[in-house]
Amino acid sequence: MVKGIIKKQRKSLPIYKYKHKILETINKSQVTILIGETGSGKTTQVAQYILESSLNSDKLIGITQPRRIAAISVAKRVAYERQSEIGSLIGYSVRFENKTSENTKIKFLTDGMLIRESLIDPILRNYSFLIIDEAHERTTNTDIILGLIRELITQRNDIKVIIMSATIEAQRFAEFFSSREIIEVHGRTFPVKILNAAVPEPDHIDATVIGIVQVHLDYPAGDILVFLTGQEEIEDVQAILLRKRKLLPTNSMDFTVCAMYAALPSHLQMKAFESAPENTRKIILATNIAETSLTIPGVKYVIDSGVVKERNYDPRTGMESLKIVKISKAAAKQRAGRAGRESEGICFRLFTSEDFNGFEDYSKPEITRSNLGNVVLQLKIIGHDPRLFKFMDRPDDIYIEKATQELRGLGALDGEEKITLLGRKMAELPVPPVLARILLASLEPQLQCTKDILTIIALLSVENLCYFNRKEANAMQIFKCSEGDHLTFLKIYQEWRKNKTKSWCKTHGLNRISIKRASMIRKQLRQYLKKYNPALVHAPNENILKCLAKGYYMNSAFLSADGTHYRTIKDREIIHIHPTSVLFQTRKKPQCIIFSEVIITTKKYVRGVSEADYGIIQSFLGTLKTK
Ligand code: ADP
Ligand code: MG
Repeated sequence: MVKGIIKKQRKSLPIYKYKHKILETINKSQVTILIGETGSGKTTQVAQYILESSLNSDKLIGITQPRRIAAISVAKRVAYERQSEIGSLIGYSVRFENKTSENTKIKFLTDGMLIRESLIDPILRNYSFLIIDEAHERTTNTDIILGLIRELITQRNDIKVIIMSATIEAQRFAEFFSSREIIEVHGRTFPVKILNAAVPEPDHIDATVIGIVQVHLDYPAGDILVFLTGQEEIEDVQAILLRKRKLLPTNSMDFTVCAMYAALPSHLQMKAFESAPENTRKIILATNIAETSLTIPGVKYVIDSGVVKERNYDPRTGMESLKIVKISKAAAKQRAGRAGRESEGICFRLFTSEDFNGFEDYSKPEITRSNLGNVVLQLKIIGHDPRLFKFMDRPDDIYIEKATQELRGLGALDGEEKITLLGRKMAELPVPPVLARILLASLEPQLQCTKDILTIIALLSVENLCYFNRKEANAMQIFKCSEGDHLTFLKIYQEWRKNKTKSWCKTHGLNRISIKRASMIRKQLRQYLKKYNPALVHAPNENILKCLAKGYYMNSAFLSADGTHYRTIKDREIIHIHPTSVLFQTRKKPQCIIFSEVIITTKKYVRGVSEADYGIIQSFLGTLKTK
């Protein structure tokens, strides 16, 4: 029964008509470019077509996704379509989670995981097909993979590559791979009416809430997909909507709210795919993950905030910032398109048409605006010279130079820029080089603080640990440590371990989803360090601060004479402690601090701040100069 329904569903997808052509092209050409509207069936079908055809071999069909949530979710969907248990025939492998077995034939993995696999085996001999999905997103990892594959196909005639993308930039992919094989899947889409805001909205959160309520009250049945910038905004809007729900007129339709963002546990993500009960409207609050990676059924209305959270790195100051920026025209079109998958739809843009005209056509590839520490480290290990590597869009030289310099400072590269043993160990760890350096430093016999550093690094790897914008106190204030945020994180974790209940998290202003995820990450990281036999004992705070300084010495700053701000030690940039830090309001501010990240809003703020061990910082900066 179920099998019949699935079969029918699969045949009804726009891509089905192209099945023969796709297989034929893959057969005759080493690289195929496949483009098509979101929802046409690229991600879920192409690997299955190969599996069912005579092209199939006994090796793996790998399919990459830029985001872990998409990799997991589509793997589960395909496993369902094949009526097979996830982890057997169909598996996935993402950072901190691997669900594959010897029987796995179709493996969904993040592009980052595929890079990790190339560190161990540069010619990826376990694969006979590599499908690079969502290539248009141009994440740093996708771009590295594209460059690596360009090399790989010269060494392995037997591997077949399929580059899949939404309709953008197909020609550029084809040129990059000197391929002429572009297949375009035409899907069935319905017209989407675009309604722009008449005047610019000063606050996109307010405007979003008002927009949602209006659509819900004024428009006929159909689910609403809302684009916001991140977990925090989504949680805020969700809380406001659930309060408003109680005030709805009794005769009106009810609604449910679900969220969709990268860090959401998968059982909660799956809620977005379920249809709402009768006479109930589903409101999905999503980040740009719902732009092209995931297709959510039932959507008739889209509310587009017009913004996205973007990470940008400034190689001159060495600072990375997380900023809310305007989306590109391409992204706005993609978002609007989500409303017309099943029937005619409406997209409400919370920006004016003049605003839209001012948007960039496409967003800049991430690799041209990121810290390339990881990239340089990984390329070095695979045996490529990052200065000669063929990037689809080459980052400015200064990005590569700066990353090389940082890796030298961390001891990952030697004076001749050769990879060191420490560098190899760092690359094995699934965290950025700075955090890897800290983890490895924690193993040193005179520091022995791995148990606590594991906790701190895990907590640094999740977003939004606490609810700062509520009136009640949050865990950071309750468990405040005078040495700063990192030790406060540790304390929070230790207390949470004693009382893992929902209500405890609530009364302590702690985000339960985030801390549970941190706990999972911690477990995974501990596995990676197992081979070093770390002494898992609690360490004095002093050792923990020393250990942090060994990674964060580049992010260090001195208090100004009048005590109002800090200046970074390396570049003399003025920075301020972020209001969410426990050091924001202390009477006695430390003379010297280290910080985990910079947020640029009206000022340059630093977050994740602790008192610094100045001795360590000085000696590290010293070695950098003499090299
Ligand atoms: P594409 O990669 O071209 O955007 P997909 O292969 O992801 O398309 O999706 C094809 C279709 O499969 C979607 O339009 C949707 O109808 C269905 N689908 C995908 N994932 C799910 C899911 N988790 N639950 C229900 N239907 C899904
Ligand atoms: Mg897809």
